[in-house]
Amino acid sequence: MVMKFDDFDISSSLNKATKEMGFEAPSPIQEKVIPVILGGRDVIGQAQTGTGKTAAFGIPIINDINAKQKHVQALILTPTRELAIQVAGEFQKLSKFNKVQTLPVYGGQSIGHQIKSLKRGVQVVVGTPGRVLDHINRGTLKLDRLSKLVLDEADEMLDMGFIDDIEKILQNANTERQSLLFSATMPPAIRKLSSRYMNNPEHITIDKGEMTAPLIEQVYYKVLDKNKLDSLCRIIDSETPELGIVFCRTKKGVSELTESLQARGYAADGLHGDLTQSQRDVVMRKFRKGTIEFLIATDVAARGIDVQNVSHVINYDIPQDPESYVHRIGRTGRAGKEGIAITLVTPREMKHLRSIEREIKSQIPAKGIPSIEEVVE
Ligand code: ADP
Ligand code: MG
Repeated sequence: MVMKFDDFDISSSLNKATKEMGFEAPSPIQEKVIPVILGGRDVIGQAQTGTGKTAAFGIPIINDINAKQKHVQALILTPTRELAIQVAGEFQKLSKFNKVQTLPVYGGQSIGHQIKSLKRGVQVVVGTPGRVLDHINRGTLKLDRLSKLVLDEADEMLDMGFIDDIEKILQNANTERQSLLFSATMPPAIRKLSSRYMNNPEHITIDKGEMTAPLIEQVYYKVLDKNKLDSLCRIIDSETPELGIVFCRTKKGVSELTESLQARGYAADGLHGDLTQSQRDVVMRKFRKGTIEFLIATDVAARGIDVQNVSHVINYDIPQDPESYVHRIGRTGRAGKEGIAITLVTPREMKHLRSIEREIKSQIPAKGIPSIEEVVE
């Protein structure tokens, strides 16, 4: 088994870059995927967000690029602009000690600027399907000498309706290429896509149990303001948390939600700044003992709370800033235990979610509100 980056058959410049990036050892997905990609085989890699999938394909791709040749040798497709920028950034860091050039191309940025950069010659292009196809159609991006093609976050790309664009791009690419597909989930549409465009891929999966700490699974649910309370109840009924902390933005929100949950029969109590210290202590004692299952709190009130067995953190109101998000979810997944962080997001709060994702450098997957049947089951 490969335990260090030095154990891979990769260039010393890449090795040095991983050290500079603070990577001490390959993550489980990297350990499994990197040798297979280096061996030249097509790969389908499935692992949760935050497990290091970018470097899992970035390292072997950069290793195989001929930096002396200025044509595009690798294309990475991502669902969003943010991700294109982020993945390109990771490639640039990995190429710190060699001459491999990576260019992000995405909609909303001047195409003229991108065309100039493409003309100057880059070896790696990271882009969203729409803009990449635009460049192909203009003849400003040629994929006839491509050696690696990656579909990153493939499930998200299909969810966002990019299937036609992706197929057109795949049809335009050199058939001699190596194809790689990464995804957190494997819906049938992805299997179909892979069977049509990949060549006998090796399917590599990392189970949750193999993941390194911190073991916090993050998800979000899209909700409407008027259905928020019902959605929360459905979620907690289906998730059955051992202990859960539910965050609200304001003290008033904490009081109202606490009353609503109590009225529906949940063992919940509130914690906010208007309580006296002894009232707070009583609530915390009850929570630690499990007399109450849900602690409803504001950010300020929950600061520094360290309670064992908090299985769920629920952002009833999405935090206003990414730091607060990281603090809140850190209330679970403690001491090697698994934790789940759930965020309710209304349509106009999607921009907050995106800025959190940028900050934590990973995508938070969406889940659908469980149906009544699922809750009763
Ligand atoms: P995924 O695509 O699986 O969601 P990313 O590739 O975005 O995950 O990686 C998540 C974070 O982990 C990034 O900040 C990345 O730099 C970091 N990372 C990746 N590999 C390692 C490693 N071997 N050791 C430490 N950190 C790593
Ligand atoms: Mg990723």
